[in-house]
Amino acid sequence: MATTTTTDATAEEESDADSALVTARRQLERAAAHVEVDENVIERLRHPTRVERVSVPLKRDDGSLDVFTGYRAQHDDVRGPYKGGLRYHPEVTEDECIGLSMWMTWKCAVMDIPFGGGKGGVAVDPKGLSETEKERLTRRFAEEIRDVVGPKQDVPAPDMGTDAQTMAWFMDAYSMQEGETVPGVVTGKPPVVGGSYGREESPGRSVAIVTREAVDYYDWDLSETTVAVQGFGSVGANAACALDDWGANVVAVSDVNGAIYDPDGLDTRAVPTHEEEPEAVMSHDAPQKLSNEEILELDVDVLIPAAVGNALTADNVDDVRADLVVEGANGPTTFAADAILEERGIPVVPDILANAGGVTVSYFEWLQDINRRQWSLERVHDELESQMLSAWADVREEFEARDVTWRDAAYVVALRRVAEAKSTRGLWP
Ligand code: NAD
Repeated sequence: MATTTTTDATAEEESDADSALVTARRQLERAAAHVEVDENVIERLRHPTRVERVSVPLKRDDGSLDVFTGYRAQHDDVRGPYKGGLRYHPEVTEDECIGLSMWMTWKCAVMDIPFGGGKGGVAVDPKGLSETEKERLTRRFAEEIRDVVGPKQDVPAPDMGTDAQTMAWFMDAYSMQEGETVPGVVTGKPPVVGGSYGREESPGRSVAIVTREAVDYYDWDLSETTVAVQGFGSVGANAACALDDWGANVVAVSDVNGAIYDPDGLDTRAVPTHEEEPEAVMSHDAPQKLSNEEILELDVDVLIPAAVGNALTADNVDDVRADLVVEGANGPTTFAADAILEERGIPVVPDILANAGGVTVSYFEWLQDINRRQWSLERVHDELESQMLSAWADVREEFEARDVTWRDAAYVVALRRVAEAKSTRGLWP
């Protein structure tokens, strides 16, 4: 059975210092301190525009019935439709969706794409669902939130526990009710029903692009740069392989079971990916096998935590020996760990910039759906490259002008864009 846990923000702040909502609020306050923005605009941005909470009844394969709770949080749409993932996870809560929707507002704004922030999901363990149960749950959830989504209103995407097939079912359920095929209602679909080529690899690819640019910024030679990637999943494997292709020396990668390390460099394309063979990194031949803690402590130039949130904490960050951290996962560095890295002079390129290739190619997918014209993979790569370079240049400008961290610089860019749009549009009535 589904459970609904809605914590009040204060209780949450005391019990879990790095919950998504607490982090999102802290980051807003930090960025606000650096930007000249009307306090009334900041006050509006502290609150989500809307949070939809629905019951999702599911008839199980054995004929019994369970009712799960689903959410869609919409933070801000001043720059365009809400955009963000739908996750199926037992710990999905209203507060988590709100926090993650705020995060999406900044991610879209830093990339300068015309979307706002949304996030949603169902509090359910997807591993406990058969394929047909997952399909029925998705179709019913799509129907329950149908009034608040749509290509011009709110465009969901895959997230934890959901995938391209889930998005295809969602799109089909929505389209059946609308009486026409509406591919632009969700992104991350299979290309045969309006998905974009290159969507799956795009967050990892953007991590690689941003790493390459950061290496160049610090005047290092990419061919002599050593890289360790925690989490050889969708994001991590695509980042590692692209960097390897571009000449970097990827010396270590890991999955949930542990890490492989070769100081002379791994042949990343030969390591089984999470998609090909889940959790098989350790089966690959390598001179050294390490734990997931040890990969974070390697003496490398670049560390890319690309597995889970809160990987770098106050407890382990003192052992980090990398000269640069590029965040592949969402929120892999806790607030406390971030402060320690700043004190130690280790730059951290933040998630909202580094892995934003995902939402950027989602935007390309939405454009392709609206125009009913598919782009080639080459075009997707070219457009992603130029969008990432442009965002990197904007963030770098703030980084240099304000002498702040990369994270603060990215939030300053994002907040300024959102706040200016809000001030320009004004408050009605
Ligand atoms: P994934 O499931 O494809 O891969 C995750 C990898 O991390 C796997 O190799 C897994 O074995 C490993 N892992 C899991 N738990 C671990 C642990 N406790 N310690 C070490 N390794 C562990 O996931 P993904 O899609 O690559 O997502 C990874 C992160 O990137 C998440 O934080 C996700 O929110 C974020 N992200 C994903 C996308 C996307 O579109 N896939 C976009 C932006 C951000």
